Amino acid sequence: MQMHNFFLKKRFDQYFLKDKNIAKKIVNYLSFENYNTVVEIGPGLGILTQYLLTNNPYHHIFLIEIDEELIFFLKKFLPISKNQIIHKDFLKWNPEEIDLQNFAIIGNFPYNISSQILFHILRYNHYIPECIGMFQKEVAKRITSTHGKKTYGILSVLVQTFYDVKYLFTVKKKVFFPTPNVQSAVISLKRKSENLNCNKNILFQCVKIAFNQRRKKLKNSLQLYRHIPNFHKIPFLNKRAEELSVKEFLQLTKEIEIRK
Ligand code: SAH
Repeated sequence: MQMHNFFLKKRFDQYFLKDKNIAKKIVNYLSFENYNTVVEIGPGLGILTQYLLTNNPYHHIFLIEIDEELIFFLKKFLPISKNQIIHKDFLKWNPEEIDLQNFAIIGNFPYNISSQILFHILRYNHYIPECIGMFQKEVAKRITSTHGKKTYGILSVLVQTFYDVKYLFTVKKKVFFPTPNVQSAVISLKRKSENLNCNKNILFQCVKIAFNQRRKKLKNSLQLYRHIPNFHKIPFLNKRAEELSVKEFLQLTKEIEIRK
């Protein structure tokens, strides 16, 4: 699709993918296991969208784009109903608004809000069985990192609590317009089948506090909980956040929860 006189908007972090083979490759990672609706975040000029439409003509597709100029363009050129093209900030979008309860997410995401996008996905994880997304490479590495590594952190633990994650492939800068300063990578998230058996609020709080002081032992960083009965009997207190696996963070959360 050609587009003339379009003003790139820095504030929306617009880097358009030029390489159609990469676009196709990303879309082909959608498994369509247990869902038939896909929501694309930030379709831009629709390079991924085109493949979503041609490869999967029988599936439902919704696009969420913040830039009004792009919305105008997409509504004009895409062969889908206008109410599938939603002009909205994804971070303020609630799937219940359009009665969506089971859908995958795809996108070449705006990198300046990648963590917030992930947190938003985690908020609605019960509706989202799968996500295929392009992130800044460094963020993709952090999401897929494991304990003991330097890149292991809040995003790794929280995303991997709910999803099995996979680093799919790295994408070079030169396939975007304009050329970004950083490399990119595509990852997949597939929701874990087992139910999370612990309190989401405590888990998020505990993981954030522990990693915000990652060099401290947990008995020092988790002082917030020191008044709960038998605090000292909680396991892992002599370890540091980066030494705990995702499973161990869940165990820790449960231990805090039962004592509270
Ligand atoms: N998918 C396109 C564009 C990627 S650039 C491609 O691969 O070429 C990121 C896109 O996200 C832009 O279209 C930008 O306008 C949009 N965007 C930025 N912030 C957004 C937000 N908060 N909600 C929805 N879309 C957003």
